[in-house]
Amino acid sequence: MKAFSMGELSPFSCPECHGVLARIKEGDVLRFRCHTGHAYSADTLLFALTDQIEQQLYSAMRGMEESVLLLNHMGDHYAEDNEPVKAAFCFKKAKEAEDRSRQVRSVIRSQELLTRARVAEDGAMGKNITVEKARSGQ
Ligand SMILES: [Zn+2]
Repeated sequence: MKAFSMGELSPFSCPECHGVLARIKEGDVLRFRCHTGHAYSADTLLFALTDQIEQQLYSAMRGMEESVLLLNHMGDHYAEDNEPVKAAFCFKKAKEAEDRSRQVRSVIRSQELLTRARVAEDGAMGKNITVEKARSGQ
């Protein structure tokens, strides 16, 4: 818990190990560090969080697309078994899931723009956006 003796608890969790991050002020520089030693500047923490959100959105979209495939497959199965009401229900639910998936895809596009804009902005300011890793006590 050396990190917490150097700073105060923050409301943020470590993108790598999900531990609580301590907020450490070093002169004009604001840093965040978890108890296992992962360390971030405000910029690298923002980049890591934004990147993580994008990955989670892609995972959600993949799950939705799989549910569309399964619902359509179930609909085909019911149609072959001469169960038109059940088939229609499955096809309707597949269409609804497809619409939700399209919405998530749209959110991913805007999330990607945020991530890229941040990287471009940091590049223009000459900052190093590489996630800084440091172990406490070393
Ligand atoms: Zn950590």
